[in-house]
Amino acid sequence: MLVARAKLDPHPEPVDLRIGNGLITALDGHLDPVRDEEVLDARGGAVIPGLHDHHVHLSATAARLASVDVGPAAARDREGFGELLRTAPAGAGGWIRAVGYHDRVAGPLDRAGLDALRAGVPVRVQHGTGELWVLNGAAIAATGLDDVHAPGVERDAQGRVTGRIWRMDAWLREVTPPVARRFDALGRAAAAAGITGFTDATAGRDERSVRDLRAAAGPGGLPQRRLLLRSDAWFPPAGDPEAGAYKIVLDDERLPDLDALVDVVRAAHDRGVPVAVHCVTRVQTVLTAAAIEGAGPRRGDRIEHGSVIPAELVAPLARLGVAVVTQPGFIADRGDRYLADVDPRDVDDLYRARSLVDGGITLAAGSDAPFGPIDPWTAIRTAATRAAPSGAVVGPGEAVPAATALGWYLADPRHLGRTRSVHVGAPADLVVLDGPIDAVLRDPGPSAVRATVVGGVVVHPA
Ligand SMILES: [Zn+2]
Repeated sequence: MLVARAKLDPHPEPVDLRIGNGLITALDGHLDPVRDEEVLDARGGAVIPGLHDHHVHLSATAARLASVDVGPAAARDREGFGELLRTAPAGAGGWIRAVGYHDRVAGPLDRAGLDALRAGVPVRVQHGTGELWVLNGAAIAATGLDDVHAPGVERDAQGRVTGRIWRMDAWLREVTPPVARRFDALGRAAAAAGITGFTDATAGRDERSVRDLRAAAGPGGLPQRRLLLRSDAWFPPAGDPEAGAYKIVLDDERLPDLDALVDVVRAAHDRGVPVAVHCVTRVQTVLTAAAIEGAGPRRGDRIEHGSVIPAELVAPLARLGVAVVTQPGFIADRGDRYLADVDPRDVDDLYRARSLVDGGITLAAGSDAPFGPIDPWTAIRTAATRAAPSGAVVGPGEAVPAATALGWYLADPRHLGRTRSVHVGAPADLVVLDGPIDAVLRDPGPSAVRATVVGGVVVHPA
C-alpha cells in the first residue's frame, strides 16, 4: 500500500510512504504505485503514529456498549433513572445491567432503593467509579449474596446484606450470566478516533479473560494492538510480547503497610517486570513512591491515574523514573464534581500535568474507559484548557500545549519515555489527519481523523 502526499514532520513537503508486511518500507518525495497497489491519498494532511490508549479496560468498555447507561447525562434525576431501569430490555439470563451511576442522580443506592424502582427481575447497577455494584432483591436472591462473607459485601446493623458490594467483579462474573460485549463497536469507535493500540489495565486478570481478548482481536472485533498488564493469576515471563507491567491496586480502606508493599514491588522486579500502581488518593501516591524507593525502581514502573500528587513528591518520582499515566478526559467528564467534592487541600494536586512535565516526569495518557470517555481528542483538548463541562477550570496552572498531550498518546507503550515516529522500518500504525498538525491541534476533535491504519491495514474508514 502507498500513503500518498503525507505531511510528515520535519519534511517541508508532503512525501509518499510505502507499506509492506505491516511496516513502513519506503519514504520518498514521490513513489510510483506498483501494479494494483492500494493508494491512500493523505492530500497533504498530517500523518502521525497511531494513538495508543495507555490505560483502558477493554472488556468492561465492550460490556458498557451493551448495557444501560444511567450516568448523570442519561438519567438526570430519580425519575429519569427509574424510567431507564423500567424500560431497559433484559439482557442475558433476564438481567438488567446498568452502568455509570452517580449519587447525584438519586442519592446513594441500596437494595431497597433499587427494588422501589424495579423489582422482579435481577438488576445490578455499577457506580461511575467502577468500584461499587448495587444489587436489587432479585439479583441478591439470584446470586446467593446473602451467604457471601467477604470484605467487599456491605451489611446493615442487623447483619443483612444491603446490596452494595465493593470490588467484587470477579465474584459477580462467576454468579451472573455472561455479559454481552460489543468489541466490534469498541474497535470501530476507537479506530475512528485514531487509536491503534491499547494497554488494558484491568486488575485481577485471569487466563480466561486473556483468551476472551485474544478471541476478540482482529477485523470485525478489536483490530488494535494490545498490551495487557499482568496480575497474580496471569504473569507471563519477562519479555512476553503481550504482557506489560504488574498491576497493583491500592484501596484506602485496606492499605498494605509499607514493608508489605515493598515486598510486592520487589517480587515483580525480581521477575524482571515493572509495576503499575493504581494511585487515586494522596496516601496511595505517598505509599507507592516510598515502596518503589524501598524496593529500588525498575524502568517501566508507572503510576496509574496519579489523581492526587503532592508537590513534594514530584522530584522524588522524577528521580525514581516513575512514569504517570494520566486521564485528561476525566476533567472534561467530571471536572465540576471534582471541584465540588474533592478535599480543598487536594485541588491544587488534582491531575497534575504541567508541573509533572516541568519536574521531569514522563507522562502518558489513557481513557480509563469505561470510567472515562474513550475519545483521546477531547482529552487532548482538555489537557490544554483544563475545562470542566461547566467551563470551570481545574488547576489552570497544570495546562499543557495540545501538542504535549498528543505526545502522551504517541509514547511507546513499553517504554513510555520514548515517542514513536513515522520512519522506514517502523510499524505501519498510522493516522491520517485532515489538515496540518498545527491546525488540528488548534481545535482537536475526532473528526480530524481521516483514516487509521494498523499494521498496514486500513481500519478506518472500514
Ligand atoms: Zn482503570
